[in-house]
Amino acid sequence: MDCIFCKIINGDIPSRKAYEDENCYAFHDINPQSPVHILVIPKEHIASADGICAENSACVAKIFEAIPKIARDAGLTNGYRIISNCGDDACQSVKHLHFHIMGGRKLPENMG
Ligand code: 5GP
Ligand code: ZN
Repeated sequence: MDCIFCKIINGDIPSRKAYEDENCYAFHDINPQSPVHILVIPKEHIASADGICAENSACVAKIFEAIPKIARDAGLTNGYRIISNCGDDACQSVKHLHFHIMGGRKLPENMG
C-alpha cells in the first residue's frame, strides 16, 4: 500500500522513534509545531478516526494506554494535547490514523 506511515512502520522511511510495542509505533513529527511533537500510529492501517469500528477499536484503546508513558518519557510533566485530524475539513494530510501528542510549552486555547 502506498502509505507513508505504513512505510515508516516497516522502516522503509526512516523516523526518529519515541516508542514502539506490538500494537503501535510513535515517532517525532518531521515538522514539529511545538517543542515536543510526537505522532502515535496503529501498526494496523486505518485511514482515519472515521474508520474506527468495533472490529479495530482495541488498537485505539491500547494507543491511549501507551500515551501516558510516551508523554512521560518525552518529559511532558505539565500537560499535553492529543489531536487527531480526520478528513479534509480537519486538514488531515496523511491518511493513516495518527494521534499528535504536543507539548513542552503553553499551547493556544483556540482549537480552530
Ligand atoms: P496531519 O496533517 O495528517 O494531521 O498530520 C500529518 C503529520 O505528519 C504532519 O504533522 C507532518 O509533519 C507529519 N509527517 C508527514 N510526513 C512525515 C514523515 O515522513 N516523517 C515524519 N516524522 N513526519 C511526517
Ligand atoms: Zn498506512
